[in-house]
Amino acid sequence: MIDIKKNVNLKNYTTFKIGGNAELFSEAFSNEDLIDLIKYAHIKKIPTTIIGGGSNILISDNGIKGLTIINRAKSIEIIENPKIDFETQNNKSRYQEGEYFKFSDLDDDDSIYDKVIVKVSSGVNLTYLINETLSKGITGIQYFTAIPGSIGGAIFNNIHGGSKLIGNLVYKARLIDLKGNIIKVDHSFFNFDYDKSILHENKYFLLDVELILFKGNIDKAKNTSREWLKRKRAVQPILPSAGSIFKNITDEEKEVISSPVNSAGWVIEQAGMKGYSIGGAKVYDKHANYIINTGTATQKDVSSLILEIKEKVLKKFKIEINEEIIFKE
Ligand SMILES: Cc1cc2nc3c(=O)[nH]c(=O)nc-3n(C[C@H](O)[C@H](O)[C@H](O)COP(=O)(O)OP(=O)(O)OC[C@H]3O[C@@H](n4cnc5c(N)ncnc54)[C@H](O)[C@@H]3O)c2cc1C
Repeated sequence: MIDIKKNVNLKNYTTFKIGGNAELFSEAFSNEDLIDLIKYAHIKKIPTTIIGGGSNILISDNGIKGLTIINRAKSIEIIENPKIDFETQNNKSRYQEGEYFKFSDLDDDDSIYDKVIVKVSSGVNLTYLINETLSKGITGIQYFTAIPGSIGGAIFNNIHGGSKLIGNLVYKARLIDLKGNIIKVDHSFFNFDYDKSILHENKYFLLDVELILFKGNIDKAKNTSREWLKRKRAVQPILPSAGSIFKNITDEEKEVISSPVNSAGWVIEQAGMKGYSIGGAKVYDKHANYIINTGTATQKDVSSLILEIKEKVLKKFKIEINEEIIFKE
């Protein structure tokens, strides 16, 4: 049964604790709910926005038009001894050791081990999935520990855990188009890149995904997960944030500006913006690529701060840094 509410405030559905109301609001608790809601919106000609953990978005103070769906569809299926006609990829993220985090001592090549397929609904919480798979002796996603959010958001943005990218593990997936039809695709469809997948462009919704994971070294993987949590917690803010605001810079940009690292945080710090604030939004003292909500931040505060950071970076380095977070209205 679809339950649609009007004018629901979205702040508490984001890690930033910022944003106005959803004009229409519903929660999907299963794949079927998700499909029904998208079909409903199509029939009523209502624009649809999907939110997972709300950890990579900035919602307008004026809210989101149309139907906002909070995706809580949860299902995890493990397929043992699968026949797989695909090698996992080894693309790397724009990550360099040292500035804020150091993780490469924890890297393992899981692909040398026997494979399993884990089929996951897009609403599954990433931390839950990591713990579930580790508890069943399955490795491969421990590098994404301490990243909040859902599998849908993780695949949408091809999240990076140190040098690792989650898209490398994607085998097949089912998408929902804007009419509510299911489309089956494989890895190549996604055009994964750093902080990017085709879902940014085609507006399809991820229904579920088959990840290729491994019967790897479980003790090492559990230790990796614990260490990731410890090291990320030591740097990440306790106050509300949306993680990194900007994408890291490319190798070419790094060369041009003679930066020791690819880190957008380094660039922002050099531009003198660490600790700078507008209203309730502040560039975090420990990691300049984070903006924290000190309690009263509005979307306008954050947007003004983002603009000022970009201007200062452009003035100092003559390069444009680009947002990682997604604006929703
Ligand atoms: C403290 C902190 C640390 C973080 N660390 C990292 C990190 O190390 N690496 C990293 O890459 N990111 C990091 N992030 C960013 C964020 O957690 C990830 O991008 C996460 O995967 C977003 O998932 P989500 O479910 O919260 O997405 P949301 O914020 O809910 O949505 C993000 C985008 O994905 C779309 N989306 C969500 N679900 C679907 C779906 N089913 N189908 C289609 N589109 C969908 C949304 O519409 C939106 O455009 C961090 C964030 C925080 C707050």
